[in-house]
Amino acid sequence: MDLKLNYIDGKWTEASGGNKREVINPATGEILAYTTESTEEDTRAAIAAAKRSFYKTRDWRDTDGQDRADMLLKIADLMDKYKDELARIDTLDNGKPLRESEGDVSDAIHCFRYYAGLITAPSGHTYEVNSGFGNMHAFTVAEPVGVVGQITPWNYPLLMAVWKLAPAIAAANSVVFKPSSNCPLSTVRLFEIFEEAGMPKGSVNLVLGSGGAVGHTIASSADVDMVTFTGSTKVGQSIMADAVGNLKKIGLELGGKSPNIVFDDCDIDGAVEWAMVGTFFNQGQVCSACARIYVQEGIHEEFVKKLAAKANAMTIGSGLDNPDIGPLVSESQMNKVLGYIEKGKSEGAKLVCGGYRLTDGEYAKGFFVKPTVFDGCTQDMTIVREEIFGPVCSIIPFKTEEEAVAMANDTQYGLAGAVFTNDGAKALRVMKEIRAGILWINCCEPTFNQAPWGGYKMSGIGRELGTYGIEEYQEIKQVSVNLNPGVLGWYEH
Ligand code: NAP
Repeated sequence: MDLKLNYIDGKWTEASGGNKREVINPATGEILAYTTESTEEDTRAAIAAAKRSFYKTRDWRDTDGQDRADMLLKIADLMDKYKDELARIDTLDNGKPLRESEGDVSDAIHCFRYYAGLITAPSGHTYEVNSGFGNMHAFTVAEPVGVVGQITPWNYPLLMAVWKLAPAIAAANSVVFKPSSNCPLSTVRLFEIFEEAGMPKGSVNLVLGSGGAVGHTIASSADVDMVTFTGSTKVGQSIMADAVGNLKKIGLELGGKSPNIVFDDCDIDGAVEWAMVGTFFNQGQVCSACARIYVQEGIHEEFVKKLAAKANAMTIGSGLDNPDIGPLVSESQMNKVLGYIEKGKSEGAKLVCGGYRLTDGEYAKGFFVKPTVFDGCTQDMTIVREEIFGPVCSIIPFKTEEEAVAMANDTQYGLAGAVFTNDGAKALRVMKEIRAGILWINCCEPTFNQAPWGGYKMSGIGRELGTYGIEEYQEIKQVSVNLNPGVLGWYEH
């Protein structure tokens, strides 16, 4: 069976220890492929290649903006050419329904095109400055940070990789990239596309392997100028600690437990549908899942009934058959989610639908969990406080706006939030009060290449996407010019 290799300094190479790891199809439990299992030594070789690329050969760093934009467009065109294959890979590897993978691939292609456009857009500022030294003018120049390490999770394998890679290479950095070992296959295919497009050797390097070996080596290396990470808050904390040695720049996109506040005066059928998206999209394995649903008491009963009916009716199966919901990514993730469901029951939440693994017939070997709705939840319950990362939501009834806002903010996280109401002023009041980086009004979960993405509090540091996304990968140099060169006369008496 296929063994997927590292891509270091423009060559596909096997890891030094000769070890490999299975990649499992979560719908069937079967082995899809093997990946080479890299060591610290392999990771250091990739970092050295990126360092040579950035500081010595400078092939990518010195490529001018228009040519870099052309390269990003070429990558986007190749992704477009292979889009069906890329979508199929993510569905087989991750389990998500094919149409959701197709959406991810389309977003990823547009992300490259967006940053290609941004490279050639005007940038920087000029300043009329007032200096005691005479007639001066100042302006800014954006420069690449240098060697950038990037580490991603498994829930949107291709898309999370592209959210990092597109702006980092647009800004002319050299990259060392580590995907999640759970779902690395679409990233491997993306690096084949980089090679086909002609990215200079050493400018983009891929290292396959565990977080403990590869990820930790990237985050702690003194030769890495910046590390950007998407994943759990716990690992994000260890990345931050690792980055201290050389005070490297960091970007952290971490976990969440986002609130969805549904007021009496909303369009209830619309709110139910969006709550389905907010809870069950991508099998609920979404950092911004709005899985704490606060419902005002006037519509609480009707909302729960309608949501449960829809959740119960969801089709479940292999992602390739395009069901409403596919398997969870792995057996361990499934067991974690089932553990939270048991915790919910034991702490007194009322199970309204779902709450179990599917094991009959076609489901026997896969990791399928029936969409689950809990009602009557309270703030102190574990299922309300902790990120479950599975198809499970907790409904909490409320009376007043103030009460809902207070409960919504009662969390260590601050990634996203949603509010459903037909009262515009109320929507904006709640928007201002919720301490989160993304706030949806009468919708849930959309992301846009043009708009910033990232969290408050323990959901992260920095922003991806939009103009903010490329600025994260740039250093800003302030340049001041003396408009009257010649003798200054400062020390003349
Ligand atoms: P995770 O366990 O934190 O792993 C994320 C990545 O970090 C993987 O590549 C992992 O490698 C690596 N890693 C693990 N330990 C490491 C260490 N000590 N040093 C460096 N790297 C290390 O997260 P996950 O289970 O893959 O993904 C789910 C989490 O991601 C959720 O918490 C979710 O909210 C978050 N997420 C956030 C966003 C956002 O935009 N804020 C988006 C998507 C997901 P291996 O697993 O290969 O060992």
